[in-house]
Amino acid sequence: MVFLSLSLVLFSSALYGYLQNRQLETYLLRLTELGHHIIHLRDEVILASHQSPFPAAKLMADLEAVEVAVTRFQRNDDGMIPDILYPGVLAQISETFYTATLGLTLQLTDLVDISVQHEHRQSVDPMTMNNIPPMVDEMLVYSPEQAQLHRLLLSEERVDFVEQAEMQISEMQMAYRDLNAINALLYLLLLMVMIVLVAKVRVNDLKVINAVIQDEKAKAEAASQAKSVFLATMSHELRTPMNGVLGIAQLIESETQEPETKEQAKIIMDSGQHLLTLLNDILDFSKIEEGKMTLEQVTFSLEGVIAHLDTTLRPLAVVKPIGFHLYNHVPANAQLEGDVGRFRQILFNLLGNAIKFTEQGHVDVEFIPINDTLRVVVRDTGIGIPNEKLDTIFTPFEQAENSTTRRFGGTGLGLAIVKEITQLMGGTLSVTSREGIGSEFTVDLPFLISQDIDMDPLFTSASPPCTNMTYGDSQGLKVLLVEDNAVNAMVAKRFCEKEGHQVTHCLDAMKAIEVLKQTAFDVILMDNHMPGLMGSEAIRIIRQELKIKTVIFACTADVFEAAHEEFIRNGANYVLTKPMQAHRLYQAIDQFSDEIARYGASAVKQEDSAILG
Ligand code: ADP
Repeated sequence: MVFLSLSLVLFSSALYGYLQNRQLETYLLRLTELGHHIIHLRDEVILASHQSPFPAAKLMADLEAVEVAVTRFQRNDDGMIPDILYPGVLAQISETFYTATLGLTLQLTDLVDISVQHEHRQSVDPMTMNNIPPMVDEMLVYSPEQAQLHRLLLSEERVDFVEQAEMQISEMQMAYRDLNAINALLYLLLLMVMIVLVAKVRVNDLKVINAVIQDEKAKAEAASQAKSVFLATMSHELRTPMNGVLGIAQLIESETQEPETKEQAKIIMDSGQHLLTLLNDILDFSKIEEGKMTLEQVTFSLEGVIAHLDTTLRPLAVVKPIGFHLYNHVPANAQLEGDVGRFRQILFNLLGNAIKFTEQGHVDVEFIPINDTLRVVVRDTGIGIPNEKLDTIFTPFEQAENSTTRRFGGTGLGLAIVKEITQLMGGTLSVTSREGIGSEFTVDLPFLISQDIDMDPLFTSASPPCTNMTYGDSQGLKVLLVEDNAVNAMVAKRFCEKEGHQVTHCLDAMKAIEVLKQTAFDVILMDNHMPGLMGSEAIRIIRQELKIKTVIFACTADVFEAAHEEFIRNGANYVLTKPMQAHRLYQAIDQFSDEIARYGASAVKQEDSAILG
């Protein structure tokens, strides 16, 4: 406000000064014009004064006109004298100019009079006293009065007053210019002060805003942390009872002779599985949102992934029934480098959708190597997606049609997750579709494709390869089950017993360690969250302190990678995610059959007898 008022004052003052200056300019012009006119008239009168005939009448008229003009100028009849700061000074200049001009015109009038008389005297014949008509343009001889007046009029000082008046007005103009310059300078100064002040205020504001943002950020981070902890806990807490539900349902389904009961058990299993998928999707999505999704970089074979896809998804296509074709153009011995778990997730989502939304025809998937990129094209002849929905289907919780959930189920999270994972991998995802004709999803993933690389079997896939589905080789094993939850323990025990394995059950890890000191086992199934000692810590003790190499499968409801990594770091051979599924347990036992034979109970016995012998 202060700045505005001061600016206004300075601006008005500058404007006033400028206008005054303009008026002075006009005034000076007029004064110069009058002054020069008088000087010109003086020269004219002097020049004419020795000419015959002498144009007295014209000169008198001119002189009179000048007097009138000067009088008008002095009286300010044209409103030319500006209302300036020093009216006295200007009035004085004007008065001096006026007086001097009138003085000059008076002398010029005298000269005209003298010149008329002189001409008359010269034109009378002294002998006859008759008039001699004057010769045209005849040069007359000056009279002494004329000569004196000429000298007076032609002297420098006589017309000095014009120049002096001009100078005085110029000086006034200069003063105004200086005033304007000072005004401009003050204005600039004020502006700078204002800028500094505004900057200071702004910086202070920003500091306050920054502090608020930092505060909010800390709160948001704390909330996000709380969310992660909540999700991890929720995941664990929901998976633990699901373990019981699904485990018992699996047992009922496999043991009952009643077709109806079998069917009902299957419904329980399907619904439970669906619930778990939702849980996984929500967890994945919240991980992506927090920017916490990290990618593994492991070497894997595409064939293993395709075999898994085939065994898991073909049955879904067969029951519909629709065709299911896999075309692999990647060389058989090629090895890929990337996050195989997330790659599988992408494939399962796209193929799962393709099968879900196709009632007749077929679903095809093609794997094409393009330099260091693997292109996967998933085509179907299903319901298709309307053009205007092609973008929104990648938005979380968006489905192409409102009736989709009712007709096909799902949450609308799958494609959003696929897109995010693809981008995280540095790849691209695109879709083309025609309603009623089908859809085509194309994923380009920058997997380094090389040939003949040795693979670590433990990390080739998140779950054991499914190519060999017979679980008969490893039977009658001695299994140590470490599990505090009675239902989970019952389920795991029944799964083992169904395959003819013999189970010893410990309710906590401390007890298990004591048992292991006395007895050798073929396989240890170790839960994580137990009273007293955590499962992962117990594994570290078994490996590092007891030096026992028995195959250990960690069982956990935690889906977070960190929990899995900790198990592997501490010495677990494999991590089984709860709810436990019978076929996954059998696959794991099958995959580690060599290690079971090498480090199992019978091997330890042989070692002991060898030592005794
Ligand atoms: P969800 O399948 O759980 O609903 P997605 O994110 O996987 O969620 O898919 C979002 C929506 O995109 C689906 O609901 C469906 O409307 C549409 N969609 C995805 N894949 C296909 C497909 N192959 N054919 C037709 N519609 C599809």
